[in-house]
Amino acid sequence: MRVLIVEDEVKMAGLLRRGFREEGLAADIASSGDDALWMARATEYDAIVLDVMLPGADGFEVCRRLREAGTWSPVLMLTARDAVEDRVTGLDAGADDYLTKPFSFAELLARLRALARRPPLERPAVVDVGDLRLDPATRQVWRGDVEIQLSTKEFALLETFMRRPGQVLSRYQLLEHCWDYGYENRSNVVDVYVRYLREKVDRPFGRTSLETVRGAGYRLRRDGEPEAR
Ligand code: CA
Repeated sequence: MRVLIVEDEVKMAGLLRRGFREEGLAADIASSGDDALWMARATEYDAIVLDVMLPGADGFEVCRRLREAGTWSPVLMLTARDAVEDRVTGLDAGADDYLTKPFSFAELLARLRALARRPPLERPAVVDVGDLRLDPATRQVWRGDVEIQLSTKEFALLETFMRRPGQVLSRYQLLEHCWDYGYENRSNVVDVYVRYLREKVDRPFGRTSLETVRGAGYRLRRDGEPEAR
């Protein structure tokens, strides 16, 4: 297991590296966000320990740029204080886990081992399907450069489709993901909301990306995919 430590404080970085090496892990140090970006691109690290407090681009920004650059190594962020806001920002920036300073080295190791068990799958914080783009953190949606205003329910439905591009989703599956048991009138609500969505994400742009698959449900077609018959 090879770990990248992103920390500008020389003493802290050195302590971490020595600790990791004593445990038989390989560990490299990046003392700035820029170094971290090129090192993570050059080597597929099993985990990245990323300090939030860095000179220049902070840890949140570095995490965002790593994900934008297509680096999917698991990221554990080190936050300075136990602030909910920091943890939320970190997770929304694409981090997988966090630990608050001061932390126990044993816990850091255990969390890294847990993270390294996950394959480096693409887990984008922002979802793209063709020229549709959806940001779950800010709850914004765009078709190309045009921002689209959606209601909470429309947003939830579109997110469900965009996380499964090309897949046929039954009305039941869509209900399961977007409506809870508190909702009484479930009979044709999916059809109604798919219609609303089409009016906002397709029709104004001359598209037909949300298609009905007869007898099965609906699907969001990827660009270039032929229409279902
Ligand atoms: Ca630091």
